[in-house]
Amino acid sequence: MVAEISRVLIKEEEIRQKVKELGKRITYDYQNKDLFVIGILKGSVVFLADLIREISLPLEIDFMAVSSYGATTHTSGVVRIMKDLDTDINNKDVLIIEDIIDTGLTLSYLKENLLSREPASLKVCTMLDKPDRRKVQLIPDYNGYEIPDEFVVGYGLDYNQNFRNLPYIGVVNTRASA
Ligand code: 5GP
Repeated sequence: MVAEISRVLIKEEEIRQKVKELGKRITYDYQNKDLFVIGILKGSVVFLADLIREISLPLEIDFMAVSSYGATTHTSGVVRIMKDLDTDINNKDVLIIEDIIDTGLTLSYLKENLLSREPASLKVCTMLDKPDRRKVQLIPDYNGYEIPDEFVVGYGLDYNQNFRNLPYIGVVNTRASA
């Protein structure tokens, strides 16, 4: 399969403004709290790296890796923890940073798992949300953009591990190679 960008959905400059806005809101909401940011690998790394620099508060970061999708664009419904946190989150104000919420299966599993570790609070911040595809009830506490049901790449998001370094978010078009 050959994949190419068929159109730009969200431009680099728009993303920059949105990330600033989210950072301001988070800074306001987490005054005097013990902010602990968890990035979900690999898709959230670009968003996380930009977002934490827009949060004017002391914070800690850690990462988790889960498997929910294979090399295809279909959900498998299976969530497995491939890398767990290095740190105890008991009594911390945890903010999960995710690239995109689609069916919601990954995050609802993760939230339940993290809640069992008894953080002081647990919220979700996602760059993109595809509410049309939801299989479980899940509303992000912070969200950059609601987008239609299309497969997107860039700004950390991949198609077969490609396109993560695009500075914008685009819709990918796949076709069989000649
Ligand atoms: P969920 O469990 O919410 O269905 O899956 C969320 C995960 O699926 C995201 O973290 C991301 O890895 C992947 N995903 C869902 N939609 C898209 C998409 O449009 N593009 C890309 N690249 N990944 C997606």
